[in-house]
Amino acid sequence: MTEEMFQMYEQMGISQKAASFGDAICNSLKERFEAIDETAEYNQLKVIRAMQDARVDAACMNGSSGYGYDDVGREKLEKVYANIFHCEDALVRPLIACGTHALGIALSGNLRPGDELLSPAGKPYDTLEEVIGIRPSRGSLAEYGVTYRQVDLKDDFSFDYDRIREAITEKTKMVTIQRSKGYQTRPTFSVAQIGELISFIKSIRSDIICMVDNCYGEFTERIEPTDVGADLIVGSLIKNPGGGLAPIGGYIAGKKEYVENAAFRLTTPGLGKEVGATLGVNQPFFQGFFLAPTVTASALKAAVFAANIYEKLGFPVIPDSTETRHDIIQAVTFGSREGVIAFCQGIQAAAPVDSYVTPEPWDMPGYDSEVIMAAGAFVQGSSIELSADGPMKPPYAVYFQGGLTWPHAKAGILMSLQKVMEAGLVSL
Ligand SMILES: *Cc1c(COP(=O)(O)O)cnc(C)c1O
Repeated sequence: MTEEMFQMYEQMGISQKAASFGDAICNSLKERFEAIDETAEYNQLKVIRAMQDARVDAACMNGSSGYGYDDVGREKLEKVYANIFHCEDALVRPLIACGTHALGIALSGNLRPGDELLSPAGKPYDTLEEVIGIRPSRGSLAEYGVTYRQVDLKDDFSFDYDRIREAITEKTKMVTIQRSKGYQTRPTFSVAQIGELISFIKSIRSDIICMVDNCYGEFTERIEPTDVGADLIVGSLIKNPGGGLAPIGGYIAGKKEYVENAAFRLTTPGLGKEVGATLGVNQPFFQGFFLAPTVTASALKAAVFAANIYEKLGFPVIPDSTETRHDIIQAVTFGSREGVIAFCQGIQAAAPVDSYVTPEPWDMPGYDSEVIMAAGAFVQGSSIELSADGPMKPPYAVYFQGGLTWPHAKAGILMSLQKVMEAGLVSL
């Protein structure tokens, strides 16, 4: 690193010690970063080709209002998503409030009273517990007579095929598979692993609808779950595919019939995909999707960089410093309250927005302990932007993800290191 660069970091509040420690680690990661860039290059071409094939043009950037009939931009954007994911149809809408909402309508649109939903790979994401009714909740699938069954992973985190076979009955209508580990400690599944699981399920009953919660996984590999047999994939636009520009939204892509069923739940029976104004979001949706492969690459580099820094300092990290990546989440276990707080305060201090705010742990509704959150984001709650959070309970782990640009992600992680040093938790 040049003297000039050290000075820039110093002006940010990052000492030469922290910057040079990080720089040495960066230099050891060149090959991994090259591989990440290659995946981004491949996926970038995929996106451009899809936009060309759909004849995306200036008129697509205009929005619609009211009912939103004949919204050319919306229709072509959905074609682009369907093309990228190699499937028949897609629903990509600002009316979808978040990832949980997208998953909720994909499930409720395709399940009917008396049907059973199976999760063959352990517990789903926290917010889905209320959608499904695992935790009793008003309007849950359980209240509508949809039952739920779950098969946990084996101790070595592999699929328990024998028990999955037993769990599939004539009632089983749909399975839900979560690609990312979310906030669990299991590894994230690769697309290839998900493909094996889907093949197994389809070999028992080929008409079971296989849905994949694709949150945080998009563009981390060259293939997506729809390339290996998924009937539906679902995600949030304030994560990877929004590229940081989408201000809201979610998507559902897959077989035409199942996507339409979800659309009838999003709007209403009889209307489905035909209505839904896009107001002003077509342009950021297209542009964000165009940027998504390289933005995802920045977030992947950030995760690999942080894993290497904190593992070297002796903290347990998941995934570890050398594992291949299938999502953008990184966990670091500090083992102390002070460590989690210092890390989050560092991420916040390096943000372009709200950098003067000092995050503190607080009693957030819905959590059983205090939680600290760091996010200096342009879009509220956006987790493709550099962000971190951690519950204030053992093992005192922080989860972080995102980074719209690699230089910002690098600065944020170095700032976290600086704060962890200042708290006296490590010395370099
Ligand atoms: C983020 C996430 C969700 C829910 O998305 P929200 O936008 O927070 O509602 C669901 N599943 C996984 C794996 C996620 O990472």
